[in-house]
Amino acid sequence: MVITLEPDAPESTVEEILREAEKYPGVHARKYVFRGEEQNLVEIHLIGDTLKVPTEVFEGLPGVRSVVRVSTRFRLIGRHGDEWARLGFVYNGVRFDDDSVNVLAGLCAVDTREHVEMMMKALAENGVVTTRMGAYKPRTSPYDFQGLGAACLPWVFELAGKYGIRVIAMEVTHPAHIDQIRNALEKTGNCTGVMLQIGTRNAQNFELLKEVGRQSEFPVLYKRGMGITLEESLNACEYIAAEGNSRIVFCLRGVKTNLGDPHRNLVDFSHVPVVRRLTRLPVCIDPSHSVGRRFVAPDGLLDIIHVTGQGIIAGATNVLVDFHPCPAKALCDGPQAMTLDRLPFFLEYVRRVRRTYAELVELYETANRPAEQPPYAQADLK
Ligand code: PEP
Ligand code: MN
Repeated sequence: MVITLEPDAPESTVEEILREAEKYPGVHARKYVFRGEEQNLVEIHLIGDTLKVPTEVFEGLPGVRSVVRVSTRFRLIGRHGDEWARLGFVYNGVRFDDDSVNVLAGLCAVDTREHVEMMMKALAENGVVTTRMGAYKPRTSPYDFQGLGAACLPWVFELAGKYGIRVIAMEVTHPAHIDQIRNALEKTGNCTGVMLQIGTRNAQNFELLKEVGRQSEFPVLYKRGMGITLEESLNACEYIAAEGNSRIVFCLRGVKTNLGDPHRNLVDFSHVPVVRRLTRLPVCIDPSHSVGRRFVAPDGLLDIIHVTGQGIIAGATNVLVDFHPCPAKALCDGPQAMTLDRLPFFLEYVRRVRRTYAELVELYETANRPAEQPPYAQADLK
């Protein structure tokens, strides 16, 4: 059972709810605060044997907005009513929600200072304040480049500050990485922000999920597990939220099967509307790791660009995408990185597909609005 409070609900209501819940054996109450841009949303969740708890007990209390019985599935990240749907969040001045489009374009793996600077300069020239930069790389082979780790963080963050980058998506593979990122940010004057990325290989690393959930400083970009069901990935996000951090973006990045050949993964952007329907998480797509190569279609566009369009036209609002100033020199995933000269087109492409998406949603609403009664029909009735 989820009890949602009005923003100005008195503290005594919270106390009263907790007191009331205690009367029922096997029922536990927990308070959650969802930080929105303009106001916080407070919810009290009753967990356990709640069937015997009547909703009326709470409905009449001052400041209670709604009392909804929800299934245990996706209790925190799920959509349970209209007011939940539009929450989203703002981090370091960047809005992540159902309406704001962000392109997090950058290097799969940080390699040289020169490349990072070229990337960030290109982003700044194109008005982009979000990027991706991998410092800790989970690689299939232990002999492959593992990322520069904590050593590169100070100069990556300084360069981000210099070029006005506000959010860097950065994968963490160990809880210690969160502290390393926090320390490096502090040392460089918090001149940028980091969104902690959970990679597909750690999609069910529950201890790591709980760690990113326990802190509330950094939002989380969760990448779906490549070999598990969508429901299992959503449950992993619920782990993060259950620890207190509900600022999560859900990223589709393709699933592993040779049925996706010749693409690196089977592109799963048909799940965009599913994730939007089931959860209130902003949805991201990663066309680079889905397709995995710079294949060119007969129309001249890369497959990476085509699938980006497919994700955006389905309602995704964030794109995590690999670029590199010189893909041949990239130490990780060079074959799927786009060159910087493609950035302006890519951004314009995303903008136009998003505009088309909005127009089509509007067209659909118009076409399906119940027909107004024509004036003559009313006259006929008289
Ligand atoms: C990445 O984005 O750098 C990455 C490793 O992606 P994934 O976890 O989806 O393979
Ligand atoms: Mn990669």
